[in-house]
Amino acid sequence: MSAKYIFVTGGVVSSLGKGLAAASIGCLLESRGLKVNLMKFDPYLNVDPGTMSPFQHGEVFVTDDGAETDLDLGHYERFTHAKLSRDNNWTTGRIYEQIIAKERRGDYLGKTVQVIPHVTNEIKAAMKKVAQDVDVAIVEIGGTVGDIESLPFLEAIRQMRQELGREHTLFMHVTLVPFIAAAQELKTKPTQHSVKELLSIGIQPDILLCRTDRFLSKEIKSKIALFCNVEDEAVITAKDVASIYEVPLVLSNEGVDTLVLRYLHLEPKDHDLKEWEEIVRRVYNPKAEVTIAIVGKYVEYEDSYKSLKEALVHGALAHNLKLTLNWVEAEGLESGQRACKEQLPDYDGILVPGGFGKRGIEGMLQAIRYARENKVPYFGICLGMQTACVEYARNVAGLAEANSSEFNPATPHRVIYKLRELRGVEELGGTMRLGAWTCKLEPGTLAHKIYGALEISERHRHRYEFNREYEEPLTAAGLRISGSTPDGTYVEMIELPDHPHFIGCQFHPEFKSKPLEPHPLFKSFVGAAYEYGVKRRADKAAAEIEMFHRPEKVGRR
Ligand code: GLN
Repeated sequence: MSAKYIFVTGGVVSSLGKGLAAASIGCLLESRGLKVNLMKFDPYLNVDPGTMSPFQHGEVFVTDDGAETDLDLGHYERFTHAKLSRDNNWTTGRIYEQIIAKERRGDYLGKTVQVIPHVTNEIKAAMKKVAQDVDVAIVEIGGTVGDIESLPFLEAIRQMRQELGREHTLFMHVTLVPFIAAAQELKTKPTQHSVKELLSIGIQPDILLCRTDRFLSKEIKSKIALFCNVEDEAVITAKDVASIYEVPLVLSNEGVDTLVLRYLHLEPKDHDLKEWEEIVRRVYNPKAEVTIAIVGKYVEYEDSYKSLKEALVHGALAHNLKLTLNWVEAEGLESGQRACKEQLPDYDGILVPGGFGKRGIEGMLQAIRYARENKVPYFGICLGMQTACVEYARNVAGLAEANSSEFNPATPHRVIYKLRELRGVEELGGTMRLGAWTCKLEPGTLAHKIYGALEISERHRHRYEFNREYEEPLTAAGLRISGSTPDGTYVEMIELPDHPHFIGCQFHPEFKSKPLEPHPLFKSFVGAAYEYGVKRRADKAAAEIEMFHRPEKVGRR
């Protein structure tokens, strides 16, 4: 059987949660026993988001095969079982890169190379590739309808309907139905205009997902249906929700999965969403709270650490906890332990995430020292592992000038240095150590206990590595290397045996965490933080009682 396609477009404004909608549809179709794959086309000219600032574009999501992709692929993996690779994310830049390479090779045999058919053919070929061996391929077109740069993609999906017919293709359009406070009314005009725009390029949407802050009445739905030529029931309320994990349930309540099956002539099997219902039940009924500090270069901006935040939420949900996440700007801690004592004492756990560049590093080192000395659960990811090694070298192993050559190339103690295979590589695009690598864990370590396995596979994205020349002085001082590549080349995990929960990893475990399968490292870190928090609060309460009874002890008189 050939695959069916759902094309997801967006109208009116960007940031309507198209990616989340696509992921949720994928989740619902899986719950009906169908096999799905998802892909995204990004209309910009960068070959991939790898060289783009996460503060502009959002996080760069890394797949097993080492592709640096759009963060929507993170949603796809968190909501479905689809196995994603570089085939699942294409930019205009990458499509053109392929075409130009073919043209230079002479593959076009003297023809004029044009947007139609050459660019659109390349786009269609990419769609067909991910649709092999699945029941439904969900194809998200980035950008907003009306943008000049998304036109070739829209033309390609128009042709797909033409080629494959209605039974095999479905157009889903995500739009905005804003509530205008001054008029006390929901407005349908932006949706009408956006559909008109689609119609002008030959696409009639089948289903409208209307983002709104309140439920759409029957009347409003009928009005939208009438003006946009869809069935009344194909106007779906996609209401704002407190947790993204509620989206599949909200959409299912609106009947979207039933409708998709009917439109695509698929067998209407009953769905099973019990596990998602349980996740949402936990979101709304936490037994207690846990408070984590992320110490980073900047205070988080939009989605620059999307997967990390979600992975922490998964870790908290695994213990039925509500997560409070605060970003602490590392530069504000540079003055030393006093600043840490002022800013960090009310956290149950401290995390230093991945990052690039020198800014804020000294503050991160202070935060790590604070966590180490005060036995606060610590989790260092990538840069957070590298800085943990530098901190240990400086303050425990007595190598006061230790550093990473990323931050001080002239340091006499390059505890972290440029990956050996990258020396002399100056190009920035796609030149890091990327994707899944096997890691062997040391028996008896905390890492081994947490994973319950001796061999793991995790995803990487870095340019620097631990310098094995410092293994001896650091381990002699008490640091433990708990994970390495099987051939011993790279140090992948470190821990401190005399600390309740101090872990660093060179990889990014957040990319593999899912709400239904919380990553063991996040589950363990949040659990340790919670336990520490319970003790921290009990100690604080006891100290306050003592202070109350013996005021002279604090020198009041
Ligand atoms: N900047 C460091 C490196 O390139 C860490 C990278 C990261 O945290 N992803 O190795």
